[in-house]
Amino acid sequence: MKLYQVDQDVLRFTSRVRSVKEKEDGVYITLESTYFYPEGGGQPSDMGTINGKEVLDVFTEGEEIWHRLASFSGLTLHMPVECIIDQKVREDHSIQHTAQHVLTAVLKDQLGVETVSFHMGKAYATIDTDLEIDEEMRLQAENEVNGLIGKNLPVSTYYRDKYNLGDIPLRKAVQVDSNIRIVQIGDIDWCGCGGTHVKSLKDLRLFKITAVEKYKGGSRIYYVAGERAFRYLYEMEDAIMKLKAELGVNLDELPFRVRQIREERDEYRKAQGALILELAEALAENFEEDTVVIEVEYEDELMKALGNQMMKKGKIAVFYRGDGRIFVFTGERADARELVKPAREAFRFRGGGGKTLQQGFIEVSSEIGPFISSIYEGLLKLEL
Ligand SMILES: [Zn+2]
Repeated sequence: MKLYQVDQDVLRFTSRVRSVKEKEDGVYITLESTYFYPEGGGQPSDMGTINGKEVLDVFTEGEEIWHRLASFSGLTLHMPVECIIDQKVREDHSIQHTAQHVLTAVLKDQLGVETVSFHMGKAYATIDTDLEIDEEMRLQAENEVNGLIGKNLPVSTYYRDKYNLGDIPLRKAVQVDSNIRIVQIGDIDWCGCGGTHVKSLKDLRLFKITAVEKYKGGSRIYYVAGERAFRYLYEMEDAIMKLKAELGVNLDELPFRVRQIREERDEYRKAQGALILELAEALAENFEEDTVVIEVEYEDELMKALGNQMMKKGKIAVFYRGDGRIFVFTGERADARELVKPAREAFRFRGGGGKTLQQGFIEVSSEIGPFISSIYEGLLKLEL
């Protein structure tokens, strides 16, 4: 039995160093006794200090609990040490972990959905389910969990062994026969669990599902509880306030206004596309030669549209800009890849394309002139 399980409230304790191992990524030590929670069951390890040195990691190896510290810890064998567990981190982990028990219970009992796995990170925690969770289920689960938080159900921990489990309806069969640690939440949930938990559900304060993704035939549910849930809401509020101010609308108008802006943008794009095509058609009329190499000040879209018009007329066109942007349109009359090849090999060019069109950037401005000359020479060789 680990000491944090005996008394979860001990966050300051003294002990002695039992073993020390120097490794590349830090100093690993075991203590004669430790209340640090080692990583396990989806819950990350406690944080804190040993003699003022930051504890980076706590994990079990066999029966031993190892603490990883940054190097140069100055700790030696049998040395007495003062240990402090970071209370805020412990509380946060206990809150997210207990929230998982409640969410798992609600999903199973109200929606018939099994929890497959659980993972807790620094910013959010996730559970994976065996069935897909839709929007309605998400809302229902969130409401149910918050309802149970409102009821302030007690969370208690006690030990049983396999033969005196009695009628305790464990949610999942456990692997051990004796000293089974049972975590009970009110009269809704009994679980064999080694993690840290809050003492009553009011400590969760607020529960929020922040995202649901499809995952391996089921769903991955991202959630936050306690302080994390409030922080999440503050961030959301801040973003919405900024959007409201930016668009000059009330909250209820916000989604409509955003949709309106998107629709307007789509309309403009359509109209702009039509204008560019019209302009390209008109501009293409100005070229009488069959082969055109010319510097332009057009945007990419117009360069492309104009090139397409030129190809339609059976012409070859090379359009380039002062910033090194270049389009080479050959259509059916030549292989654009072959035409650009010598220039590509001699100068710094980033781009590509197919047989009828090559496009890209001449990367160094002093090479624009020579690059174009090289293509020009290629065109002369074509003897068109
Ligand atoms: Zn647990």
